[in-house]
Amino acid sequence: MSPQTTHDEDLEVWIDQGLCTGDGICAEYAPEVFELDIDGLAYVKSEQDELLQEPGSTTRVPLELLTDVVDSVKKCPGDCIHVRRVSDQVEVYGPEADD
Ligand code: SF4
Repeated sequence: MSPQTTHDEDLEVWIDQGLCTGDGICAEYAPEVFELDIDGLAYVKSEQDELLQEPGSTTRVPLELLTDVVDSVKKCPGDCIHVRRVSDQVEVYGPEADD
């Protein structure tokens, strides 16, 4: 793996598939980032629009999609969408965030 330069505010998102109910709310709010796989669970997508089928995979949150992703976090019935800062891996939106 080559080292990547990260910005302090860069965010990434991952889903805990173990808690996903498969309702698809996240994919409705932010289809650029989330998609349901044939197993009925939601997964994140890469910047190349590729479904990342490994449970717990992360993908970068584009700034212009942050509102949609945060809305997904808030509406997610499984409480299983996690958004964290890339720089220090602190969760900023999600069940483990401090708000
Ligand atoms: S909103 Fe949450 S529970 Fe619903 S499909 Fe997305 S990750 Fe799964």
